[in-house]
Amino acid sequence: MNAEIIAIGTELTSGAKLDTNTQWLSEQLSDLGIPVQFHTTVADDLDANVEVLKIAAGRADIVLITGGLGPTRDDLTREAMAALAEAELELDEPSLAHIESFFHERGIPMPERNRVQAMFPRGSEPLPNPIGTAPGIWQQLPRDGKPACRLAAFPGVPSEMKRMFFEQVRPKLTGNGRVIRRFRINCFGIGESATEELLGELTARGHDPEIGITAHEATITLRIIAVSDSVEDCRRKIDEASADIRARLGDYVFGIEDEELEEVVVRELNARRETFATVEWATAGGLAQRIASIPDAVRCYRGGGVVTTEEDYLDAIEHFTSTKPVDYLLCIGAEFFEQEGERPVSSIPIEIHERTETTAATLRWSGNPAITRGRTAKTVLNQLRLLLKNGKLPS
Ligand code: AMP
Ligand code: MG
Repeated sequence: MNAEIIAIGTELTSGAKLDTNTQWLSEQLSDLGIPVQFHTTVADDLDANVEVLKIAAGRADIVLITGGLGPTRDDLTREAMAALAEAELELDEPSLAHIESFFHERGIPMPERNRVQAMFPRGSEPLPNPIGTAPGIWQQLPRDGKPACRLAAFPGVPSEMKRMFFEQVRPKLTGNGRVIRRFRINCFGIGESATEELLGELTARGHDPEIGITAHEATITLRIIAVSDSVEDCRRKIDEASADIRARLGDYVFGIEDEELEEVVVRELNARRETFATVEWATAGGLAQRIASIPDAVRCYRGGGVVTTEEDYLDAIEHFTSTKPVDYLLCIGAEFFEQEGERPVSSIPIEIHERTETTAATLRWSGNPAITRGRTAKTVLNQLRLLLKNGKLPS
């Protein structure tokens, strides 16, 4: 069994609006173990709609459609579905009553145009919409030599689509008895290819469970996807793969799922009842902003200085080491650019003060400063994480 998702709307094909419904529906199907093979986005044009529906019904067993169910002339999903099934549109009285009551409750007469939302291709079923006027459409299309294609059309409004999917369509999609579970492991301080090398055969195609590597702002995420016939078996596969990954990557692993470095550091400092502060020049507050986004940071984070001169940099360090001392002070100095052949390379001095001890290093990056600044902030947080974990900084 495989699925296709069709998003309908000129606002999507013109680029005026981002199609987030397709992403959401794909995740839902994937959780049911139904692979999605095609995403199609199409403008509000009847011929184009009929064409993509025909193609989808030929190649997919389940077709989920979003958009084009509104009352206006540009919304053509119901007409396209009628054309696909070569069926007339006919009025569904209960749907009309629901739409009328929707307007009645708001004390306004129903515009004549909304009547069209109670029209359905003969042979299809309405999917009631408890929170809007546009009902959805459930249609089964017989096919030669294979089971009928099942189509569900939802309104484009995300909240309506989501509720209707959960309540009415998901129960109809039994899946193929397979369950999918996902798990993420986050690493820092190692590149994508080096990670792949350490993981060896774990990331090979066809490995069970599947393990993929993605990189975002220097954080490496390992995505484990387990498919099986029970949730328990998926969990077992994920646990085994996680243990294997941790054994191979050691200290590079800092967290799971949505965890960020700042979260891990704040949690550890709170557990130890220790404090920290920041002084930033090159990152202009980027480090402080990360830390402040963690609600529990108020307990351990004593604030930070953003400086633009050497004198202020030294004053701020003095403040957090002598006047109001913290257990750990993270310092990011000024960025210095050099030309190395074709490419500019930046050097950023960093310091970590651990009460009376200070460790200094220089980070060197080539690349867009907008990206390397985030990397600098994360590197300093990672240094603190390792210091807390191992009692010393990595050499
Ligand atoms: P429609 O059902 O086509 O009248 O769409 C109603 C509204 O839902 C549109 O004005 C959009 O704001 C929103 N919408 C439609 N399609 C999508 C989509 N694929 N992703 C996110 N929002 C959408
Ligand atoms: Mg539309």
